[in-house]
Amino acid sequence: MAEISLQEQMKQLFGLQTVDKEIYRLRTELEEKPKLIEELQKKFEEKKASLKALEDKSKQIQLKRKEKEVDLAGKEEAIKKAQTQLYQIKKNEEYQAMVKEIAGFNADKSVLEENILKLFDDTDAVNKEIEKEKVVLVEEEKKFNQQKKEVDDRMKEVNDRLAVLESNRNQITPNIEKKILAQYERVLKNREGLALVPIKNGACQGCFLNLPPQVINEIKMKKGIVVCEACARILFLEEEL
Ligand SMILES: [Zn+2]
Repeated sequence: MAEISLQEQMKQLFGLQTVDKEIYRLRTELEEKPKLIEELQKKFEEKKASLKALEDKSKQIQLKRKEKEVDLAGKEEAIKKAQTQLYQIKKNEEYQAMVKEIAGFNADKSVLEENILKLFDDTDAVNKEIEKEKVVLVEEEKKFNQQKKEVDDRMKEVNDRLAVLESNRNQITPNIEKKILAQYERVLKNREGLALVPIKNGACQGCFLNLPPQVINEIKMKKGIVVCEACARILFLEEEL
């Protein structure tokens, strides 16, 4: 390993950084994509839940209507019974009382009939809404599945590309001294996939700190790795590479 010059190792590091930059970008993408799908899924599930709520509402209205229909049948039965009794009553007072009671039953019956009609209308309105929501949901499901497929396809593509990049990486790393590689990888991990940066106009291109001229001289001397004192990234001069 000692026979590999520092300059040659810097060239290898430059190649490695090119690969690692892409690896970092693709890995970030791999982390973000499933979150996107989760969000889409959540929105889709919310829509499904709101449709379910409408269906429950429709069922409840129908139950209420059935209750009212039972009440109505009871009222009709009571009226029939009262009318039969009416013919058997002899006393005028009792007769008048019964007539009054029947009138009351009829009034109740009218109210119940109105209620039932109103509940039929409510059911129609909710059912119309349900039909509309179902159409929307079918569209949403199609859209969701399509987006999921796009993401899955892209993730496969990214994974394939990452496998190629990893193999490229494995070809480069044996050409770099272990100590230098370890230093580079440590910075890579802590500095968002960017461990090796050029100096441009006297500034570190990682953190943009202006570097003293002495740093540039140190790099030109090629005696060892030179790092930015602010961000710890390994520095190089494009013209010296
Ligand atoms: Zn820096």
